[in-house]
Amino acid sequence: MMNILLVDDDIVDREHITRFLSANDNENKFDVDVAESVNEGLEAFLRKKYDVVLLDYKMPQRDGIEMLIELNNEPKEDGTAVVMMSNSEEEQLALECLRTGAQDFIVKNDITDARLRRVLINARTRFELELELHRSYQKLKEMAEQDSLTGLSNRYVFDESLKVTIANNQRGNNKVALLLLDIDNFKYINDAFGHDVGDILLKRIVKRVNASMRSNEVFARLGGDEFGILLYNLDTDLQASTVARRILNILEVPFEIGTIVINSSVSIGIAIHPDNTKNAKEIYKFADIALYRSKKLGKNQVCFFEEEMQKLFSMRYRVENELRTALTENQFKLFYQPIVDLSERKIIGFEALLRWSVDGEPRSPDDFIPIAEESRIILELGRWIIEEAVSQISIWNKELDEPLKIGINISVVQLTDLGLPKFINNIFEKYDVDATKVVFELTETALLDYTTDKMNVIESIHDLGCNIALDDFGTGYSSVSHLRNFPISSVKIDKSLMPSTNEDEKEISLLRGLISMIKHLGLSIVGEGLETERHVEICSELKVDTAQGYYFAKPASSEEIHNSIIKKNMQIAE
Ligand code: C2E
Ligand code: CA
Ligand code: CA
Repeated sequence: MMNILLVDDDIVDREHITRFLSANDNENKFDVDVAESVNEGLEAFLRKKYDVVLLDYKMPQRDGIEMLIELNNEPKEDGTAVVMMSNSEEEQLALECLRTGAQDFIVKNDITDARLRRVLINARTRFELELELHRSYQKLKEMAEQDSLTGLSNRYVFDESLKVTIANNQRGNNKVALLLLDIDNFKYINDAFGHDVGDILLKRIVKRVNASMRSNEVFARLGGDEFGILLYNLDTDLQASTVARRILNILEVPFEIGTIVINSSVSIGIAIHPDNTKNAKEIYKFADIALYRSKKLGKNQVCFFEEEMQKLFSMRYRVENELRTALTENQFKLFYQPIVDLSERKIIGFEALLRWSVDGEPRSPDDFIPIAEESRIILELGRWIIEEAVSQISIWNKELDEPLKIGINISVVQLTDLGLPKFINNIFEKYDVDATKVVFELTETALLDYTTDKMNVIESIHDLGCNIALDDFGTGYSSVSHLRNFPISSVKIDKSLMPSTNEDEKEISLLRGLISMIKHLGLSIVGEGLETERHVEICSELKVDTAQGYYFAKPASSEEIHNSIIKKNMQIAE
């Protein structure tokens, strides 16, 4: 069934055409409404959806072309095909009608039953083709379009990226995170300072967030003060929380716009694919629910759609803020654990170990160091550790005849700090410490995904004259290539490799194998976690060079070490 609107002032023509179209035709049925003038036709057009308007050119008052122009201004999507009719066979007129947007032109004298039907059907088909073209043009235009204020991708591009990313992730084991961001109290800022300030603030926020983005992150403005971030190829959902925290942090510094200072923050909602849902539409809904919850909590909040994630996130976020406070309030301390030369049974140095207590409760570095790494607080904390440890060994070595070594743990994240070698060198000069007395301990995981930059930092530290030790060996890959490709001079055997029972031959053989391999590479060996007499025996037998562990001494504060060891001229209590 096709709905036709016939607009013609001539009663004879109207009846003529209506009769033609109501004649029986099994294939196509036409339902015809009539209007006697352009105005009447426009009224009818607004009331009902027509497939084709059959429009007479010559009418008193307003002619057909005027109506055609009005119809053209209607949104294309609910548009209608138009066929113009006229009495004269005027080529100029026909062309003008087609140019103005009619799909066809027909001369009244030529109208026959069959011909009219064919013209109407063709006009409709042509119109639909045009519509399709128009749509794909529109789509291309939208896809190319950026948000003009911020230069970010728009919602359309973001939706498409989300769909594609999720489709690509259907098989993979990776995670995709959708973060929806909403600026807190943006309406208030607009009302209080005006839209110009609001616009500048939007741009500034985008600039800061953009600067912190990585390559596997899509950032888009979804509208108003709402933004979307898409993270893909994630190994764990914790990475999403890292990005969220990063954003909260970079917005902490107030914005200065002219003379106005604005404290701005965002609320963030997060949903994860495939954990929360496998469906692209649903993930949007879930992230939106999470955003709603986060807004409800107040300003500057992050909510995960999933409750368990939420708990984990809140804990980590709390610890991260506590770490920041601890850094500014000087709450960190270093403890020192003696390292003993096994053949001579004397202390040759210490390993510096980080200590932190909150409300008198000690926190384990194994728990908080990963959070410090993720939030990159370790960059500043790590520099503090280096300065503290170097200054301590400088003090002790001034008291002693034979200088001691100091082992300092550094995290892989610190290797992204390109200024680190220079910093270390300055510290050596400041405290007058010989670089050869300092050993930087790196875990094998740090060497796993090394980049040229990280490699350069390791090389530069080595070039200063420092030694590099491979920490926790035997827990991860224990790869020989790492030992050969990096400027490593010693290997610390992980404490978990110390035989647990008295007579476990298998454990001892494993240890023997590892040690002989390391020795063959010409590296020195440090045993860790020696707790018993037996451990000391085994390590001595296997020609482990130096060792540390509760058997000799637990890590202790610098005061304790000073009183119990340094003052007593390096004797270890046995
Ligand atoms: P790690 O570098 O392997 O440090 C040795 C850990 O073994 C220390 O734990 C130490 O207290 C403990 N330990 C020493 N002797 C024994 C023993 O006989 N038996 C047992 N069971 N344990 C012993 P701690 O201080 O809790 O540190 C844990 C980890 O946290 C360290 O492992 C290191 O990976 C990290 N860490 C500690 N301080 C720092 C630091 O200043 N910077 C960085 N980046 N990481 C640190
Ligand atoms: Ca260590
Ligand atoms: Ca270790």
